[in-house]
Amino acid sequence: MSDIAANFKQVSAADIAYFVKTIGEQYVLTTDSQKDKYSHDETEDLRYMPEVVLLPADTAQISLLMSYCHKQHIPVSPRAAGTGLSANSLCIYGGVMLSIERLNRILDIDQNNLQVTVEPGVITEVLQNAVKEKGLFYPPDPSSKGSCYIGGNIACNSGGPRAVKYGVVKDWVLNLQVVLATGEVMWTGANVLKNSTGYNLTGLMIGSEGTLGIVTQIVLKLIPHPKFNIVMLAPFVSMEQAAAAVAATFRAGITPSCMEFMERDAIDWVCGWLGDVTIPIAPEVRANLLIELDGNDMDMLYRESERLYEVLMGYECGDILLADSDAQKTDLWRMRRNVANAVKTTSVTIEEDTVVPRYHLPQLLTSIKEIGKKYGFRSVCYGHAGDGNVHVRIIKDELPDDYWRNEVPKGVREIFERVVELGGTISGEHGIGWVQRRYMDIKFPDFQLQLMRDIKRVFDPHGILNPGKVF
Ligand SMILES: Cc1cc2nc3c(=O)[nH]c(=O)nc-3n(C[C@H](O)[C@H](O)[C@H](O)COP(=O)(O)OP(=O)(O)OC[C@H]3O[C@@H](n4cnc5c(N)ncnc54)[C@H](O)[C@@H]3O)c2cc1C
Repeated sequence: MSDIAANFKQVSAADIAYFVKTIGEQYVLTTDSQKDKYSHDETEDLRYMPEVVLLPADTAQISLLMSYCHKQHIPVSPRAAGTGLSANSLCIYGGVMLSIERLNRILDIDQNNLQVTVEPGVITEVLQNAVKEKGLFYPPDPSSKGSCYIGGNIACNSGGPRAVKYGVVKDWVLNLQVVLATGEVMWTGANVLKNSTGYNLTGLMIGSEGTLGIVTQIVLKLIPHPKFNIVMLAPFVSMEQAAAAVAATFRAGITPSCMEFMERDAIDWVCGWLGDVTIPIAPEVRANLLIELDGNDMDMLYRESERLYEVLMGYECGDILLADSDAQKTDLWRMRRNVANAVKTTSVTIEEDTVVPRYHLPQLLTSIKEIGKKYGFRSVCYGHAGDGNVHVRIIKDELPDDYWRNEVPKGVREIFERVVELGGTISGEHGIGWVQRRYMDIKFPDFQLQLMRDIKRVFDPHGILNPGKVF
């Protein structure tokens, strides 16, 4: 850490004067009370205070700020809504936190080409609702969609429940405007559906967690909004049976728009926390699948759900709850989307973002619980089972601080080793950020990590962009 820190300059009074001149005094935050909310995200209990928080208004201002910080060797961490789960945006080495919250306009909804051009500070759900008003659909919907920004989604290559049918963020991005570390501005691609012109810089930027450039405009692809959906909750007597039913569903030729897994504890916790959602769940139930089918023909959807019932019944599925109103659908989704919020109110927790080819989900779940037993930690599993993506929220409870810091990570390492053995990887959608870097060696040999570092150096010669993240 100190080696890297030695490359950087602390923010001085002269730097602050430059920032004030460039973006205006009210957009340069220097006091602890102003900066406090930027010192943490949603990752366990970590806090790193930025030296200064800057709130620029547009690409031109960001370009000036980057050019200056590059010359001065001041670290800059881009920040969207701060809902990251891997400490992706925190100012580990101090310096500038560059918030894109004022770049929050939807610039153009192109109904002829089914595209939207948007700034990175737009809340994902706000964007979805705006295009829905025109009958259009932008599917990627992280469970945090009501608060996270589209810019954060791009930087993490986020997923969410609908990825199982519609893909993740990378499948919807056509073109990005990016300010490089040196302040230069580029468009990475073109507003077209096909592009084999040179290297895929759009793809490189997506998921780069603010380490290669600052995204300032985004062109996304849209599709017509599906007219109907069916939502159901299927209970199972074992986690493994629920997980095995997932791969069987796809093998039967059914592609749900969402297929979410929640182990029993997750449901009990979230219902208790929400207080106003009561889902009748039999005592023997150990896990549930929340399943959504969508399309434009209701009869076809009913026929598909009958076929789905047949598949699920082969896996000791109990009575399926079919949501009979929009209110019940909303309740079921509210329950699923709030699991993490509910669990973390009880203790310090950390969420691991495991992903395996979906047929191996039952083995993964068994291993997670075995490893938890070996290291003496409790965990709650839930997530996007249709993608083979299970979040493992590990609960600190009464574990002593030094055990939590030094022994629990050994258990996490074993979980990730098992994940990789099963053909998976160590983050499906949350990114690596600061806290998952220590596990990168499980997935990548040294030369491959070096290749990534070399790419970073080309884009960011002074290493000022979001230092300490990814590797
Ligand atoms: C309750 C809850 C549920 C969640 N559910 C999901 C889920 O279902 N699926 C999922 O994928 N994630 C989920 N997440 C994780 C998180 O919401 C996503 O990673 C989200 O994309 C982060 O967006 P943000 O706006 O909060 O970004 P931030 O946390 O502010 O930043 C994330 C990363 O983006 C970088 N960044 C931000 N803006 C820019 C920019 N303009 N240019 C370059 N880099 C930038 C930051 O430096 C950082 O590395 C969940 C989080 C919570 C708390």
